[in-house]
Amino acid sequence: MKKNDSNIKKAIKYLNNNECIAIPTETVYGLAGNAYSDKAVSRIYKLKKRPSNNPLIAHYYNLKDLKKDCEIDITFKRLYKKFCPGPISFVLKLKKTSRISKIITNNSNSIAVRFPSHSLTRKLLKKINYPLAAPSANISSSISPVSKQDVIDEFGPKLKLILDGGSSKIGLESTIINLIGKPHILRLGGVNSKSIYKLISPFESKNKKKIKIKVPGTSKLHYSPGIPVRLNAKKNYQNEAYILIKKRKKLDKNYFYISKKNNLKEAAKNLYGTLRIIKKYGYKKIAIEKIPNINIGEAINDRILRASKK
Ligand code: AMP
Ligand code: MG
Repeated sequence: MKKNDSNIKKAIKYLNNNECIAIPTETVYGLAGNAYSDKAVSRIYKLKKRPSNNPLIAHYYNLKDLKKDCEIDITFKRLYKKFCPGPISFVLKLKKTSRISKIITNNSNSIAVRFPSHSLTRKLLKKINYPLAAPSANISSSISPVSKQDVIDEFGPKLKLILDGGSSKIGLESTIINLIGKPHILRLGGVNSKSIYKLISPFESKNKKKIKIKVPGTSKLHYSPGIPVRLNAKKNYQNEAYILIKKRKKLDKNYFYISKKNNLKEAAKNLYGTLRIIKKYGYKKIAIEKIPNINIGEAINDRILRASKK
């Protein structure tokens, strides 16, 4: 506990100096910098090698802080009340008076915002007087980090501080919902689409079957382990790592369980770490068994589909 407090002090010092640090969140680890500072935000893009047209999510402590920068409406309030702090991001209109760096939003007048629930990061957010721009703490297009070690593997000594918050509880990125115009989901994630649509009026959720993924960062190859991924695999071929969610009778050194009892939450939490391990072992190919497309299974399927794109 004491160590965490002194690390938070260090974190604030770096952030006030426009440096980037890594922070734990319940979704994945983030590479954080002062969202009001062009200098800090440019550093994030440079470190991540992220294309400048791919905007960043700003992380806030609470509604009061958010209102300084963004316009909100009743749909937002309803979703906020139910899911925040938690794994959901909202695209909102920026206020004219907002101090958010234009670099984050790629000069647009909208911004994606989130309220992470991890206690360490909440403690940090409470103590600073600016939001944190924090994309996932990985080199652009690779697998997001879900532990301190994953962040070290991505950036080595380039990062001065990584706040250690243990392994990320959810293990997949946030769900992103665009609340400008008719609400629609841009990226599936930690909060499942059904529970979101339940809270949105029937008029607003008319198009709920069609989830359009239009976010720049999710349109091409993303979340990639860097080796071919085969989906809905009923068996594995020789030398192929096989990701499973249901226990098999047979033992095989190439089997990697992300859950043994078809538990989708557990599978989501273990997915990225398992992809990293498989790569470290030197496998050249991955097969993944069919994942049920319900609850967080939707987000798992979204990520492995992207991981499988060539
Ligand atoms: P990451 O920070 O790595 O989880 O990625 C954040 C995702 O949010 C990216 O896919 C961005 O394209 C998306 N995003 C951030 N800001 C906006 C915005 N203003 N409008 C639409 N998508 C956004
Ligand atoms: Mg990312």
